[in-house]
Amino acid sequence: MPDVRRRDLIAASFALGTWFFGADSAFARSGKKPASPAIKKQKKLVPKPKLIVLDPGHGGKDPGALGLRGTQEKRVVIKVAYDLRRQLQAGGRYRVVLTRADDTFIPLRERVARAEDAKADLFLSIHADSHPDSDVRGASVYTLSEEASDREAEALAARENDSGGSGLRLSRHSDTVAKMLVAMSQRGTVNDSRRFADTIVETFGRSGVRLLPHSHREAGFAVLTSPDIPAALVELGYLSNRFDEKLLTVPQHQAALGRALRASVDAYFAAASATRKA
Ligand SMILES: [Zn+2]
Repeated sequence: MPDVRRRDLIAASFALGTWFFGADSAFARSGKKPASPAIKKQKKLVPKPKLIVLDPGHGGKDPGALGLRGTQEKRVVIKVAYDLRRQLQAGGRYRVVLTRADDTFIPLRERVARAEDAKADLFLSIHADSHPDSDVRGASVYTLSEEASDREAEALAARENDSGGSGLRLSRHSDTVAKMLVAMSQRGTVNDSRRFADTIVETFGRSGVRLLPHSHREAGFAVLTSPDIPAALVELGYLSNRFDEKLLTVPQHQAALGRALRASVDAYFAAASATRKA
């Protein structure tokens, strides 16, 4: 990455950091008495909130998939991201950063860089798909892999990697994905990502969210390439199917998807801490 771009990212991450820690700094400046040792001890027992980066796909000049009735993917996915952010923040166990908080176009590499600079504990990219066969419907979840699990997943990764006409083709540079995957497996990121994806599939199944067959698939998604951050990409359904398109625009369904995704994040971290304790 050229120096100038790196500097921009560092500046962006500094801005994010100020946003995160602004409240604490304000507290420090407020002149309140320092906490007593007992309070300090108590604070230590409270686990540090996990940082979740939510990545609503597309935005700005890139509408993403288009529905039969003209629904734009970028509008649906940001609503679900807002819902999920609200639900995650409500319990106080998570801090949440969105890679885009409004209708702005953000290149894929910058989304990855934002998650890395924020030192995310978990990354979830949120999308909705379209299919030439209008009968195809249901949600699916994807993780990074050098070899796609099937042709449809490969085609989907190519479509998503082309966000904003970037023409990013990871399959042509599979060396990059291969190297990334070596680093990711050494650090346990590959397993954690798969576990997170499987957790989403299970939670969707339990919550009555309709799923595609073989609901967890793999391919070379550019947005899932942070070596240290477990990451998955969820396709919430197909805008090319009239039932899915209708559902995805209904606020109650968007909130239900948010609830199921929050439960997935909870289950993912609960399993991780159970493994550590065992
Ligand atoms: Zn998409």
